[in-house]
This record gives sequence, C-alpha cells and structure tokens, in this order.
Amino acid sequence: MKTIGFVDGGRALPVGKILCLGRNYAEHAKEMKAEIPATPVVFIKPSTALLEPGGMIRIPAVSREVHHEVEMVVVIGTSGRDIPKESAMHHVAGYAVGLDMTLRDVQAAAKKNGLPWSVAKGFDTSAPVSAAVRRNAVADPHALALSLRVNGTVRQSSNTRHMLFKIPDILAYLSTIFTLEEGDLSFTGTPEGVGPVAAGDTLTAELESVGTLTVGVH
Ligand code: MG
Repeated sequence: MKTIGFVDGGRALPVGKILCLGRNYAEHAKEMKAEIPATPVVFIKPSTALLEPGGMIRIPAVSREVHHEVEMVVVIGTSGRDIPKESAMHHVAGYAVGLDMTLRDVQAAAKKNGLPWSVAKGFDTSAPVSAAVRRNAVADPHALALSLRVNGTVRQSSNTRHMLFKIPDILAYLSTIFTLEEGDLSFTGTPEGVGPVAAGDTLTAELESVGTLTVGVH
C-alpha cells in the first residue's frame, strides 16, 4: 500500500484514489489548444502511480514523449460525499507538490481517437508527490508560487491564484461523483510551460509554504 507522509512526522495516510483536474489554468489550456472547461475535466490515476520523493520516473515502452506538469496536490483528511463548498476545506488534511507526468504522444492519440487517458496518465511512477504540510500551516492555498526546474532550468513558473476552479469548487464537484476518502489525493491542474523530459533528467518541483520535490528520470 502506498502512503503519503507529513513533514511534521504525523501518521502517514494510505493513498486511495488520485483524482486529477485537467485544464485548470487558462494559459495551459491555451498552450494545449484546448477550450477552457465550463465544468472540471477529471481523470484518475491508480494509487500504484504514486512515486515517493527521490524516486525515479520510469517511462513505459509505449511512449516516446513524456511531459512534466507541476501541480498543487490536496490531501483528503476527512471522508465525504456531496460535500458543500462552504465546508469543503474541512475535508482537507494538507497540501503537497506533485507532478502529473503525462505520456503526451499516447494522450494525443487517445484524444484524436476518442479513447480514454488511463495509459497516458496512470502508468507506474506517473504521480511523484512530496510529503504534505498540514492545512493550517498554509495561510492561503490559492496564493502560492508554483514552479518546476529541469536540471536547474526553470520550465514552469506560476501561482496557484491562477487556478480556474478553486479547492472548494473542486472538492464539492468531485464529491458529487466520487466518495472522497481519507488519503485520497487531488491534483489541481498545471500552469503553462509543460514539456518533455528525458532519461537522466532531474526534476525539482516547488510550492511556496509547502516544500520541494525532487525526482529523477530513469
Ligand atoms: Mg495535469
């Protein structure tokens, strides 16, 4: 069972579902030549996709083009279904920084043919996630600098204030479809600047007030 730990050393939570948002930053939707969605675009990664800090991303043989997407990750602490926006933040245990690694060539083929994204988004090691900080340690999760460096060069640099759907909107919406459980993760979308990684690269993701995540590419 994969778990997510907390920087304060508290009990690690077993990770269940990893619920992810697509196109949640306008500038990223634009670079993908995609419409800004009226309702959240949602996909799931299995818990086996989780990669611990310091781990190695393994690119499956079906792909030749793997992209980085740096994202804020919300850790669910209290289970719920049909959660009202007004109380949604009470279901949050904390925040982490993660990478929604994406087989861009496989995804492009799936989009073109109207097929699912499970392979493009859910492969083993497609979800590197840092240790989490507690909700109360972050004053405003919608005002945090978010960045990604590849081998020391900045590739993505934005701020969570640019998220189109905010955390209460996301959790309220997701919980009309899925029961949110303790230890579930929600990736909240990536800003612009996504691009390919290659074997031997070092990826460093950073989220203000939350921390840093470093992983390699096998
Ligand atoms: Mg993403």
